[in-house]
Amino acid sequence: MTRPDLLQRIAAAQADLARDHLLRRLRTVEAADGPWLTLDGRRLLSFAGNDYLGLAQHPALREALTTAASQWGVGATAAHLLGGHRAPHAALEAALAAWTGREKALLFSTGYMANLGVLDALLGEGDLCVQDRLNHACLIDGARLAGCELKRYPHADADGAARQLAGAPDAAALLATDGVFSMDGDVAPLAALAALCRREGATLMVDDAHGLGVLGPDGAGSLAAAGLAQADAPVLMATLGKALGVAGAFVAGPAALIDALAQFARTHVYTTAMPPALAAATLRAVAIARAEGERRERLARLIALFRDGARA
Ligand SMILES: *Cc1c(COP(=O)(O)O)cnc(C)c1O
Repeated sequence: MTRPDLLQRIAAAQADLARDHLLRRLRTVEAADGPWLTLDGRRLLSFAGNDYLGLAQHPALREALTTAASQWGVGATAAHLLGGHRAPHAALEAALAAWTGREKALLFSTGYMANLGVLDALLGEGDLCVQDRLNHACLIDGARLAGCELKRYPHADADGAARQLAGAPDAAALLATDGVFSMDGDVAPLAALAALCRREGATLMVDDAHGLGVLGPDGAGSLAAAGLAQADAPVLMATLGKALGVAGAFVAGPAALIDALAQFARTHVYTTAMPPALAAATLRAVAIARAEGERRERLARLIALFRDGARA
């Protein structure tokens, strides 16, 4: 028998990583006090977290979570379409749509699942998906899952994106980009990409995991900061586990798109709805993120301080 053994093969891949000193290390945090983490008894300042506005441990969010948990319990008990969609979910979807200036919004349990679900619902064989080289892994995986042709352009290069689109003028096309890139914090050339999509008849999708709550008037995100509206970028995805300090994600856009995603996005249809108490806590987070602009100003000051210090 010449059949390869799967467990041996993955162990060999693991050994390769170890040999090249590329193994990631799992650390258990013993206590968390905002960005201060205790590891092996040492108190350390974390630069790897995404709690940009300091909401993850906010008293008002804890209070909203416990109040909603006493009313709704812990679990949603079912998928959204099967009785799991509770009043806090509906209220949160409405608040997210209003905040981002979209007609409607649809919740997903994680950002990863949101991107897989949207790309798989919109794209299929023979279609084209054009993506920035530095896009988040789940946008790449979503295009793979959809079975479309995936073309990646050089980072933040709208002309590169234009060449990719021009190469397949007859294919239905989605251009997907991070709004704010997760590793360097730079912002995609959104106005140029929106103009390109309009010219080429392609649909623009923006993953604003790191822009929502951080950029734009009211913290409405990188598209709002660029002065772009729903018609310019019909597919807006953002997460609830970063600046909002909770967990989960949503897609917002035209009502017809959102209604169709509720039917066709398999990672929405075939999975348990997020716990309703988390939706209630997130609703509080949205209100605080919108109202307390000083949190954004403080973040901007800290970013400038870090950049200046790093340069020096
Ligand atoms: C974190 C992140 C995601 C995934 O979101 P989760 O809710 O953590 O699954 C997707 N896209 C980008 C750009 C991200 O930074």
